[in-house]
Amino acid sequence: MADTEDQQTDEASDDFYTDAANYWSKVPATEDGMLGGFGFISKTDIGGSETFLSSIFKLKNPPGRKHALDCGSGIGRISKYLLTVHFDHVDLVEQNSEFLDIARTYLEDRGKKIGEVFAMGLQEFCPDARKYDIIWCQWVLGHLKDDDFVRFFNNCRTGLKENGMIVVKENTTSSNNVEVDTVDSSVTRPIDKLRQLFDQAGLISIKEQQQSKLPQGLYPVHMFALRPKGTVKNFQKCIRQ
Ligand code: SAH
Repeated sequence: MADTEDQQTDEASDDFYTDAANYWSKVPATEDGMLGGFGFISKTDIGGSETFLSSIFKLKNPPGRKHALDCGSGIGRISKYLLTVHFDHVDLVEQNSEFLDIARTYLEDRGKKIGEVFAMGLQEFCPDARKYDIIWCQWVLGHLKDDDFVRFFNNCRTGLKENGMIVVKENTTSSNNVEVDTVDSSVTRPIDKLRQLFDQAGLISIKEQQQSKLPQGLYPVHMFALRPKGTVKNFQKCIRQ
């Protein structure tokens, strides 16, 4: 489904977000649905994230363990198996409100740990200042256009507490090209392109790791731990479209 030549037209198209919303509106609100029919990789994925998060907590000046944000949460698979295990409170942001409705029952056993739930696209979202220890973005950033990606992460910088970090876990292309998926209206970026966008958003990657033990034929999945370059000004306001 990769079609590099269509990249400009697709990503530039006004329908990029509505096409994705339509695609996800037909996907079952299950773990298997969230993983595109690869529900069986969930344990491996969470295990790799556990290892990565543990290594982040061992860094000098590690993030706190109070408040995490799950971006493009879907029904809350990552909140359920990873974030609520390590953080006191977890907020969710997700464009599909039906997934968030399901999340309420799916995450019921996590009780009061589930905090605010924002039903909106990341391209419209801006976190409150200095709120989060970890902002977790996984398998969603391919749904953002480059300029929205940079603005979203710029805004996320202000949403971090002291020592807070952003974790990105995404598919990457092995070619040097951005590959377009017209079925779910997303792009898959090469690792260098991701690094370039992080840099444009004022973030530096301080730790990176590839997810191991995924089935052959899937895109390589990489994890990045990102910190703001320099100090973020307290008074910085959200940058809007
Ligand atoms: N991160 C979750 C869900 C992955 S599926 C997990 O790993 O289990 C991708 C999710 O991203 C879907 O729930 C979809 O509705 C959501 N999504 C797609 N485009 C989005 C956007 N622009 N903003 C926020 N969420 C988006």
